[in-house]
Amino acid sequence: MNLEKLAKALIPDTDLLSVSEYEQLYPPRDMPAGAEVTRLAPSPTGFIHLGNLYSALADERAAHTTGGIFYLRIEDTDDKRKVDGAVESVIRSLDYFGLKFDEGAEIASPLNKYGPYYQRARAKIYRAFAKDLIARGLAYPCFCTAEELDEIREEQTAQGQTPGYWGKWAKCRNLSEEEIYSALSAKKPFVIRLKSQGDISKKFTFRDAIKGDITVTENDQDVVILKSDGIPTYHFAHAIDDHFMRTTLVIRGEEWLASLPVHLELFKVLGFKPPRYAHTASLMKMDGDTKRKLSKRKDPELSLDYYRAAGYFAPAVVKYLMTLLNSDFEEWEMKNPAADYRDFKFRINKMGKSGALFDLQKLADVSRSEISKLSEDECFAFLKGWADEFGSEADKARFENREYIIKILALIMGTGGKKRRKDLETAPQAIRLTDYFFDDAFSPEYSFRQDDETVNRVLSLFAESYDPSDDNQTWFAKLKAIAPRVGFAAEMSEYKQNPEAYRGNVSDVAEILRIAVTGSPNSPDLCTVMGILGKERTLARIAAAKR
Ligand code: GLU
Repeated sequence: MNLEKLAKALIPDTDLLSVSEYEQLYPPRDMPAGAEVTRLAPSPTGFIHLGNLYSALADERAAHTTGGIFYLRIEDTDDKRKVDGAVESVIRSLDYFGLKFDEGAEIASPLNKYGPYYQRARAKIYRAFAKDLIARGLAYPCFCTAEELDEIREEQTAQGQTPGYWGKWAKCRNLSEEEIYSALSAKKPFVIRLKSQGDISKKFTFRDAIKGDITVTENDQDVVILKSDGIPTYHFAHAIDDHFMRTTLVIRGEEWLASLPVHLELFKVLGFKPPRYAHTASLMKMDGDTKRKLSKRKDPELSLDYYRAAGYFAPAVVKYLMTLLNSDFEEWEMKNPAADYRDFKFRINKMGKSGALFDLQKLADVSRSEISKLSEDECFAFLKGWADEFGSEADKARFENREYIIKILALIMGTGGKKRRKDLETAPQAIRLTDYFFDDAFSPEYSFRQDDETVNRVLSLFAESYDPSDDNQTWFAKLKAIAPRVGFAAEMSEYKQNPEAYRGNVSDVAEILRIAVTGSPNSPDLCTVMGILGKERTLARIAAAKR
């Protein structure tokens, strides 16, 4: 068969570059030894999830800890799944978590020399290489209809054979020249398939950067490389793009391990050196007693939008993911609590081989700890950022009074040399924690433990003696002075020695006042709370709490 003629008949484009011209157009990158070129290669479906962020963080760390490049390629070969604005959403989401691309789709960069970064815009490159494979007898047209493919599969299942288009089942693999040209002149639609040279009785050892040595069986499937609309499949586009974009390390989900033999064969027939691969374990969660993969349908926390809307502190999410990426990160963090996570020496080969357990409770702990390290100003910016986008009108309005909020934050965070409190977990939770500082949000359900008469007396005695200029000690001395007037012990030591002799103690005085002023028996330093509220409002609340 005249293969050159066949290649021209199947791919008549006359403006394709030659294989060597493409090599010149996209030369190997000039980079220091050991520098990794990694990429995030999402489909523009508009759904960017935690697994993408997890993988992107590994990509970004692998590139930026070695002086390499992290780029964005858009795998838009499946037009049906495309959503407008999806690319911007990927960039915005990753940016929110502090991850930046060096080059790629929609990234303004002088480095963008390996584009286009949208696969649909790369059709010519794929066609040039498919044409070359056909001319070399390594690819062929397949005219099978969907019905014929179904029949083959049914027959294979009935005979207990491996499904797929391979060996003797690959009907179009050995079509005669005459059969091909008559199908072409009948305008039958066709795809281009790889003419696999592999043998499934042969196995070889492959080193994955995460999984270590794995045994791989050669591919013998004649996979589709160009679909009937001339658009490549993932397999073909992956080999061509990662070669010509000069990716050194492909980090991708372990679901792709099954197609690794296909990819290695494609690199081989194309004459390209394969990149290193790192197949990441899936993110898992505990569901009752069982561990399962995070699911788009069941777990809202899989979507990255969830974290923004739920007001998570983005650096905490990233830090938590770092603990899942490298098991020694946590120990490093403990030794370097103030250091930037970027100073940690990330290692791809330290990533877990099996599913990492994602635990929202652990994330909450990391979040509390990270927020507690902020200054009041930084915390203000974080909370306001969330309120402006997701808060109610009342939430937004609160942030107009910056000075007031900063005072509250200093108190609830314990800044200014005191022991830092770790009460703040997410933006909305933090905002709700401060509700009692705002009259429009203060609607207490008082739950005093003492009888009404005692409560009223404590409230009145305090109101009579309150002076906002009192320091903490004087303020507390006044509480102590109230105690004996309602039959409580003024000193805890007296009370402990002889509890039956008293109806309560000074902490009960404080509790009554706390409930009256904040609505709750738990609050940060009450004297400071009163100071922030001011005399008028403090006294108004005390009056309103009377039974
Ligand atoms: N478009 C593929 C996906 O979203 C990319 C896989 C890869 O990183 O190679 O799953």
